[in-house]
Amino acid sequence: MSTDASVKAFEEAQNLIPGGVNSPVRAFSSVGGTPIFIAEGEGAYLTDIDGNKYVDFVQSWGPLIFGHRDESIEAAVIEAVKHGLSFGAPTLAETELAKLVISFFDSIDKVRFVSSGTEAVMSAIRLARGFTHRDDIVKFTGCYHGHSDALLVEAGSGAATFGNPSSPGVPYDFTKHTLLAEYNNIESVKKCFADSKDIACVIIEPIAGNMGLVPADKEFLHELRKLCSDNGTLLIFDEVMSGFRGTINGAEALTGVIPDLVTLGKVIGGGMPVGAFGGRREIMAQLSPEGPVYQAGTLSGNPVAMAAGFAALTKLKKNSIVMAVLEERAKTLVNGMQREAAALGIIMQVDVRGSMFGFFFNENPVKNFADAAKSDADMFAQFHAGMLKEGFYFACSLYETGFISTATTDVMIEDTIKAAAKVLGAIKNG
Ligand SMILES: *Cc1c(COP(=O)(O)O)cnc(C)c1O
Repeated sequence: MSTDASVKAFEEAQNLIPGGVNSPVRAFSSVGGTPIFIAEGEGAYLTDIDGNKYVDFVQSWGPLIFGHRDESIEAAVIEAVKHGLSFGAPTLAETELAKLVISFFDSIDKVRFVSSGTEAVMSAIRLARGFTHRDDIVKFTGCYHGHSDALLVEAGSGAATFGNPSSPGVPYDFTKHTLLAEYNNIESVKKCFADSKDIACVIIEPIAGNMGLVPADKEFLHELRKLCSDNGTLLIFDEVMSGFRGTINGAEALTGVIPDLVTLGKVIGGGMPVGAFGGRREIMAQLSPEGPVYQAGTLSGNPVAMAAGFAALTKLKKNSIVMAVLEERAKTLVNGMQREAAALGIIMQVDVRGSMFGFFFNENPVKNFADAAKSDADMFAQFHAGMLKEGFYFACSLYETGFISTATTDVMIEDTIKAAAKVLGAIKNG
C-alpha cells in the first residue's frame, strides 16, 4: 500500500497551514506517521488520494451516523443550495429543525442554532452565568467542551482546584473561574461547592467521548443533579458528541437525570457545521433579543446546514430502532477485538453506548481521565498504524471515541476483528 501522494500533500500543506491541518488531532501527532489525505467518502468507506480504500470508524468525528453521502441528506443539501446559500434572515428551515430537535429532548423547550460545538458550549456557559448572576463554573478533567478560553483548562490533577490555562494565549484571568473536578467522583464536586458559593453551572459530557469512551455512572449523575439543584447551580449536559450518537433522546433518557441546558452539534448538522444549545423556557428567555445575554452569528441557522441536519434527524426520527442495531454492531466489534486480544495475552477495556465505541489497552477499568492516561499509548500507536495498513481507519488518538454508521455492515465488523487479531498478533510477536 503506497501513501506517497498523502506524504507529499502533507509536506506541502505544512508549508501553508500550521502543522498541515485545520484541527490539531488530524495531524496524527500522537500515533506518528503522516495523515492520509481524503479524496472521497462513500457509505462506510473512505478513499485517499493514493486510491487506498478504508473502512471508516471516525465518520468525521461523529456527525455521519448514516455514513458518507447518505442519499437523503445529499438530496436535501442540493435542494437547499438551489434556493440560496445564506440570507442572514429567518427561514422556515430553522423553525423546522428547532421543532424536530425539541421533540427528541424532554429538557429542551427552546433551542438556538450556531455553527459549531465550541460556539454552542461557549454560549450556554454565558447564558448560565447570565441567568444565575454567578461567575464560577465546574468542568471535569478529561472532558472536552470545545476550544473557548474558559474551557481550555489543564486537565491535569484530578483534585478540585482552580484551573490553569492549558494553552498559551489564554490569560490566567480567563480561567480562574473554572474549577476542575474528577469524572465519576462526586466528592471532588462537593469540594468545588465547598470552595465556591459562586458556581453558575456544572458542565459535563454525560457520556464522555474525549478521553476515549467513558460513560458517567448513573448514580453519579443523579448526585450531581441534586448538588446542582441544592446550590442553585445549572447542570449542563454537553451532548455535542453523544447527542443522537449515544442515544436518540439524550443521556437524560438513559439516566433519568434532566439537565437545565443541553449543548448539541455533530450529528444535528448531518455533516454540515451546526451546533445548538437549548433548555428550559425561562433560562432560554434570558438570551438576546428576548433577554439581556448577548449571542449572535452571521451564518447561524444557515439554510443549507439546517437542511442537512433536518434530513439526518428526520431519518433518525422515522427509524429510531437504528440505534439499537448500531449498538449491537458496536458491541460485536469491541467484544470481538477484546476476545482476540485476550487470546494473545493483551488486556483491553471496552465499552459501547449506542453507535459510540471505545477501547483501551489497559489492565484496569477506566472511570476517569487519570485511569485513561494509564493506557498503553505505544500499543495504541502500533495498533492504529497496523489497522490503517489493513484498510481500517480508526481515530488517531487513544483519547478518541470510535463510531459505527448505518453503512458499516456485519461483514465489515467481522473483517475488522480479523484484522485486529492479525495486527495485535504481529505487535505481540514483535
Ligand atoms: C466536538 C465536541 C465539542 C466541540 O465541537 P466543535 O464543533 O468541534 O467546535 C464540544 N463538546 C464535545 C463534547 C465535543 O465532542
